[in-house]
Amino acid sequence: MAKPTYYSKRMLWVKPFVDSVSDLVPVDRIMRIRDYRVKKGLDSLSYGSRLTYGNRYSINIELDVWKKSHKSYVGETYQIILDTVAHELAHTIHSEHTPKHYQLQARILLRFSRILKDNGILDHSIRWRRKK
Ligand SMILES: [Zn+2]
Repeated sequence: MAKPTYYSKRMLWVKPFVDSVSDLVPVDRIMRIRDYRVKKGLDSLSYGSRLTYGNRYSINIELDVWKKSHKSYVGETYQIILDTVAHELAHTIHSEHTPKHYQLQARILLRFSRILKDNGILDHSIRWRRKK
């Protein structure tokens, strides 16, 4: 049996989303899902990334964005975080940005939208916030 996916503490909340698509993507081949933030003052280059190790994957998601106008970090929006997770999950099947990749991403997002609804998160533009 594959080792369970490691989630960084701040990414644990996406586990139910990822688990909900285990019939669509090989969740058991994802080694870890973790968050990062860019250095103070720098612009984000992307919302996330995926590293491939043979047939296993590691997914990195930007959770905090540096806001120049606020001179501080703010949480990324649920919309962008979940779009990015869905995008990277779809890459575990389709490595290129093909119509099939986009189609799979859409199927994943459909599942995610149900979880948001079931959890009463009716506005995906709200920003992720660390629980105190
Ligand atoms: Zn991509």
